[in-house]
This record gives sequence, structure tokens and C-alpha cells, in this order.
Amino acid sequence: MELLSGKGVTKEVETLLRDKVELECFMCMGEFDDGDYAPMMMCMNQHSCCAPCLQELLKNDSSKQVACPHCGSPVIRKAVTKNRLLLTIFDLVKEYKKRVTQL
Ligand SMILES: [Zn+2]
Ligand SMILES: [Zn+2]
Repeated sequence: MELLSGKGVTKEVETLLRDKVELECFMCMGEFDDGDYAPMMMCMNQHSCCAPCLQELLKNDSSKQVACPHCGSPVIRKAVTKNRLLLTIFDLVKEYKKRVTQL
């Protein structure tokens, strides 16, 4: 039985699920996706919130330093990018869950 493309991937996803990798925005509890709710990595501890929450966060405090609500680390505006790794993981987990429920 081979889920996904390789055996290693499935194991990885299982580990991630067990470790409860955060696939939802810790601010609004919405699930990330690859569109409007893309996970945005906002601090050096790789905390991610969805794009709308990030926008809200930066808008509220446009002139001052904004801190990550999760850990208090400064948000480096210029460095905020889509969390590609999380998106990849998210896809894998989504696919994995889908297959598991089909079994
Ligand atoms: Zn959010
Ligand atoms: Zn943080």
C-alpha cells in the first residue's frame, strides 16, 4: 500500500499529524490554504498566521514595530513571506487525510 508518492512522505506526514503541526492560523483559527488564507511566516520562530490576519496586524500598527502575537519576536515586515514549507506540508496532510478516510 502506497500513500502519496513515497513511503518516506507518508511517515513524515504521520509524524507531523502526531506532533500537531499547526495547519490553522493561531489568530483566527481558520485553516490555511494556498489562496487568500495563505500561511505567512511572520517571525524568526516561523510562526505563521493567515494573510488577512497579518494584514490586520500590520495595519493596526503601521509605524511601530509589530511583535509576533505568539512569541513576541519582532515581525520583520520585509521578510514576511508565504510559508512554502507549511503549504507543502498542508497539501500532504490534506491528501493524506483524504486517503485515510477513503480506506
Ligand atoms: Zn488568521
Ligand atoms: Zn512568533
